[in-house]
Amino acid sequence: MSTPILEVNDLKKHFPIHGGFFGGRTGYVYAVDGVSFSIAKGETLSLVGESGCGKSTVGKAILRLFPITGGSVNLDGTRIDDMPSGTLRPMRRRMQVVFQDPFSSLNPRMRVRDILAEPIRNFGLAKDAADIEKRVGDLMDRVRLPRDAVGRWPHEFSGGQRQRICIARALAADPDLIICDEAVSALDVSVKAQIVNLLQDLQKELGLAMLFISHDLAIVEHMTHRVAVMYLGKIVEVAPKRQLFAAPKHPYTEALLSAVPVPEPGAQRERIILTGDVPSPINPPKGCRFHTRCPYAFDRCSKEEPELRPTEEGHFAACHLHDRPASENPLAGARGAAVIAHH
Ligand code: SF4
Repeated sequence: MSTPILEVNDLKKHFPIHGGFFGGRTGYVYAVDGVSFSIAKGETLSLVGESGCGKSTVGKAILRLFPITGGSVNLDGTRIDDMPSGTLRPMRRRMQVVFQDPFSSLNPRMRVRDILAEPIRNFGLAKDAADIEKRVGDLMDRVRLPRDAVGRWPHEFSGGQRQRICIARALAADPDLIICDEAVSALDVSVKAQIVNLLQDLQKELGLAMLFISHDLAIVEHMTHRVAVMYLGKIVEVAPKRQLFAAPKHPYTEALLSAVPVPEPGAQRERIILTGDVPSPINPPKGCRFHTRCPYAFDRCSKEEPELRPTEEGHFAACHLHDRPASENPLAGARGAAVIAHH
């Protein structure tokens, strides 16, 4: 097997909390607490979970927007989390990001031409001015925007068009990996679908690897190869998309999926309503972090933390249910993600 483009091993990011009379450290927010995954060249992995689960922190840690607490990040076989900033520069070019808010992520005082030319110039990717102009035009074609719009300002575009400009700017650096951090969440439903289709097309055309961070499983279903589900700073399940949507092996994934509309007419999922609030990442529950909300929790769950283990080829889940006999495991076998015929 070829080297994955991205390998994340036991990544941890604990943010210190300062307070008290002397302003000393009073604890930590365990935002990311031992996360491992890899992405192959040309693959899309979606990282999903409710807000506050740590998924965006994972993306920012990979991009080195802050130092990590533990673990390692490798890009195409080279460790980058402890690389000095000077040496990191060429690696930075190879991973680009598209953030949620296309309104604040574009400089309002720069025309589109300059926004797209900046990374080309910074990373020394063009021979001369004519080459820059050609590359800028090609990028506009790639994201399906008219070439003659390069002279316009960001405020002259709609939200969806601005997100296309953000995508073009990410592509301008000629990356191997794009991290999309809730990249379509702020957009209207119809625009969302167009941007997802564009990302999917670009991924195929350019053979890009993508880490797609989202709270929306319905969006993820259309554009990903594999899905990793996060809960309170940990990955609780990873599987190829079809396997995960057809037969989730973690109760949290099952609950998330139960809220996703089923496209087949006449079918619906049995909605699982989780009780209890999401616990605080400052003081996560002992044992399985999901046990305070899990409908299937039993004695062992509050005492022992389950490891992420294979349940079948390519499918991993962190749940003690899989040590029980199939007759006592509600997630054993293919259950069709609790999809029931509705007559
Ligand atoms: Fe639920 Fe226990 Fe599995 Fe955790 S380990 S998800 S509490 S059944």
